[in-house]
Amino acid sequence: MDVQQYLKALPPAERDMVQPGARLRELTTLRVGGPAALVCPAHNPEQASRFQSLARAQDIPLFVLGGGSNILADDRGFDGVVLKVECDRLLQDDNILTAGAGLDFDHLIARSLDLGLTGLEFASGIPGTLGGAIVGNAGCYGHEIGEFLVDAVILRPDGQIETVGPEEFGFRYRETDLRETGHVVLEARLRMQRGDLPTAIASRAEKIADRRRKHPVDLPSAGSWFRNLPAPAPGQRRQAAGHFLEQAGVQKMHEGDAHVFTKHANMIVNAGQASSADVLALAARMKKAVADKFDLKLIEEVRYLSDATG
Ligand SMILES: Cc1cc2nc3c(=O)[nH]c(=O)nc-3n(C[C@H](O)[C@H](O)[C@H](O)COP(=O)(O)OP(=O)(O)OC[C@H]3O[C@@H](n4cnc5c(N)ncnc54)[C@H](O)[C@@H]3O)c2cc1C
Repeated sequence: MDVQQYLKALPPAERDMVQPGARLRELTTLRVGGPAALVCPAHNPEQASRFQSLARAQDIPLFVLGGGSNILADDRGFDGVVLKVECDRLLQDDNILTAGAGLDFDHLIARSLDLGLTGLEFASGIPGTLGGAIVGNAGCYGHEIGEFLVDAVILRPDGQIETVGPEEFGFRYRETDLRETGHVVLEARLRMQRGDLPTAIASRAEKIADRRRKHPVDLPSAGSWFRNLPAPAPGQRRQAAGHFLEQAGVQKMHEGDAHVFTKHANMIVNAGQASSADVLALAARMKKAVADKFDLKLIEEVRYLSDATG
């Protein structure tokens, strides 16, 4: 992309905020990825709209980034605009929270409990932003963020900003329609509860402790690599991809510094200087091991950011 041309078209205040050549490894929890031509942090809907419309006018590819906790970025980087959603206002009206999509999701859960509002504590410790959680319908322990959405302010690819209800999202397992529609989530209203606060606070502490036991806390990762498999019969639970990966014997696999996490076969950790090629090669071996043993095709949950996919 022609960075200078894009910069020239920005108002001076926004020109000062954008970061040419920012390293994607600094913006993703797996700590892999080369430079992005331009990273544009949007603190409010107007800024997001301006960054997006300029990219559209100059025919520049645009990728929306939240906390980067579900992303593998290519070592060659991304020759386009990374729109980093950093809208972070938080308002309370009784049991409804209006929250910026750039708020750290876990921090939002802590803040909601401080305000005496319960419900989201099941998701305590999920990294990333509220926007990323909504787009991927993040969940665990049998609940998902989609259950809480009243409506959201979105930016459409044509530049229109609108408030839409949950029906626009098509919430399903770790997925929404937003990946196809290309809508950017800027803000959301969440319906919280006024439940038993001490129980909710204890539950939050338990969930965080559980994550510390089971997830990589000292090593960079991007969470579960593959989606869980559909339930074998209606009314039953999804089948953990980690179970099949374990049975397929992937635990000791590694490619360069990309390793299968010892405590969770569905996670890849960066033990040092893993490259995107290392991570892709390891994920392909894990997938093949399950296909060979069980004749099952695992599907990636983590998004790949590159010039080809962005
Ligand atoms: C240790 C660890 C544990 C995890 N545990 C869980 C878990 O229990 N449950 C779970 O569901 N996930 C889990 N994850 C995965 C990840 O944290 C979630 O998917 C998270 O919600 C992603 O949010 P993010 O802001 O980091 O999104 P990113 O990784 O930045 O982006 C993910 C996708 O969402 C899009 N996106 C992000 N923000 C917006 C926006 N505002 N508007 C439009 N599109 C947007 C991006 O383009 C990309 O396609 C875990 C990850 C790690 C590292």
